[in-house]
Amino acid sequence: MTNYWKTLEAEQGTLEDGQVLQGLLDEADAIVVGIGAGMSAADGFKYIGSRFTDAFPDFIEKYGLLDMLQASLFDFESVEEYWAFQSRFVVLNYLDQPVGQSYLDLKDMLEGRNYHIITTNADNAFDVADYDSDHVFHIQGEYGLWQCSKHCHQQTYRDDSVIREMVEQQANMKVPSELVPHCPECGAPFEINKRNEEKGMVEDGDFHAQKDRYEAFLKENEGKKIVFLEIGVGHTTPQFIKHPFQKMTEANDKALFVTMNKKNYRIPKAIRPQTVHLAQDIANTIHKAKNFDAVK
Ligand SMILES: [Zn+2]
Repeated sequence: MTNYWKTLEAEQGTLEDGQVLQGLLDEADAIVVGIGAGMSAADGFKYIGSRFTDAFPDFIEKYGLLDMLQASLFDFESVEEYWAFQSRFVVLNYLDQPVGQSYLDLKDMLEGRNYHIITTNADNAFDVADYDSDHVFHIQGEYGLWQCSKHCHQQTYRDDSVIREMVEQQANMKVPSELVPHCPECGAPFEINKRNEEKGMVEDGDFHAQKDRYEAFLKENEGKKIVFLEIGVGHTTPQFIKHPFQKMTEANDKALFVTMNKKNYRIPKAIRPQTVHLAQDIANTIHKAKNFDAVK
């Protein structure tokens, strides 16, 4: 196989991960970045530990919930209880989640380059770090948005003040019934805009615009020297980032699949020669990558 990447000619182990990353991005004609939960976790926005137990002691006691993601998908016993949980969750992970250093560093690193981002994260990390939203595709919705729980029509809604009111007025793990928001079309309660294995997700005009921009970018850069950079992507929903990135890499000799993850996921044999695994700490690697000069 021809090696199209100068950075990879360096003797293995002689470069730090940040240096490899910076070198590959310098060489690439296009960069597709796929971001999963591991990136937000690298900035301390974790779904386990004190961030979870401090915010939801009552729910943990009642249901024995183990982590915040599992909890957010739990089938609560009433809509009032559902919104008591979700309103607190939205304030913590969306409305009031502070800016993450890795997101700021990544933004600097991508500045001036030909890139597009796809993410399964539904937090506010890109927004609060002031990314150009035309370059970001939220394929799994956003916590701040609502959809009809019957998915009766393809529109999302948002009202942050109602969320905050639900946090303030809830008692005994229930919001007052009159605060539960309802679909203006069919009257069913709203739920958070997220994908469900059976029902799918409400995908409105904005979602499709994001999807179209992402697909247009892939089409424009097909066959080019391209880096598919996967950051903190696990194996929960590989159909959105991991598998498409691997397939597109396989279809293009000049493409690289660069995976930043502490875990060593199995890489399909066909793309092993085109795979670069950066196992060092995500936040640290991105932070340092900015400061390395191009590999000559
Ligand atoms: Zn409806």
